[in-house]
Amino acid sequence: MIDMPFAAPADYVPGVAPPAVPQPDALWFLFRDSRLLAGEGTMRLPPGALAAGLNAGRPQYLGTLAGREVYAAEAASGADAPAGYRWSDLRSLFSRMDDTLVALAGRALQLVDWDRTHRFCGRCATPTLAKDAERSRECPACGLVAYPRIAPAVMALVKRDPGEILLARSPRFPPGMYSALAGFVEPGETLEQCLEREVLEEVGVRVANVRYFASQPWPFPNSLMIAFVADWAGGEIRPDPLEIEAAQWFIIADLPQLPQPISIARRLIDAVVGEMRAAAGQ
Ligand SMILES: [Zn+2]
Repeated sequence: MIDMPFAAPADYVPGVAPPAVPQPDALWFLFRDSRLLAGEGTMRLPPGALAAGLNAGRPQYLGTLAGREVYAAEAASGADAPAGYRWSDLRSLFSRMDDTLVALAGRALQLVDWDRTHRFCGRCATPTLAKDAERSRECPACGLVAYPRIAPAVMALVKRDPGEILLARSPRFPPGMYSALAGFVEPGETLEQCLEREVLEEVGVRVANVRYFASQPWPFPNSLMIAFVADWAGGEIRPDPLEIEAAQWFIIADLPQLPQPISIARRLIDAVVGEMRAAAGQ
């Protein structure tokens, strides 16, 4: 079990330089586009020989999980799944595949995608080369080095005493579902400044006392969600019509439909509501 979905498992040791010959029982995360090959019904990863045979690119060595080598590789677009296997969307594997493997699959998907999109230099278009000692690709002509990208995003749950939280819904959410506010960090701002800006832009409210809650890697794609709690410091709710379909204060005794428990949004809401209930003696 891992505490946060997509966090690095405790018995995982990252690595970059692959051994000369892969272990026969190595774990292979093989993707076609962004879908993972897993056993139909069993959700088992394919044996190394099968995965290596389907691999159409350069496999990425990811390190070891409890001593077993871990590889990420890519099949040709349109490749058929072997008998007994299917290509599955990573999100559909939650609770069907071991949490530890799902977490590593998220890492594998991001590295395969990064490798695929950095084969050429972004400055001079020369084919790049993988470096041995670190996860990066270097341009032999101009020296530009590309590292896997992470896009930090801030999540904010705003609370107001004595027992209200501010939740909003995006037009992309399932009907009826509300969640905490979130947005991507811009160049040149701190996480706290991002939070204050996002909350003000999205719902017109000012906040104070920003406190860190937790973070969660999110591979759809390349995000790191960093979640905070903040106190309402002024302003009435005015939703940004482009991003927010609805936003309101909800009393904690009467909350709307919330995101799935797997999400950091739900964990944040549950933790804050739990604290507010405890403080109110409920
Ligand atoms: Zn270059």
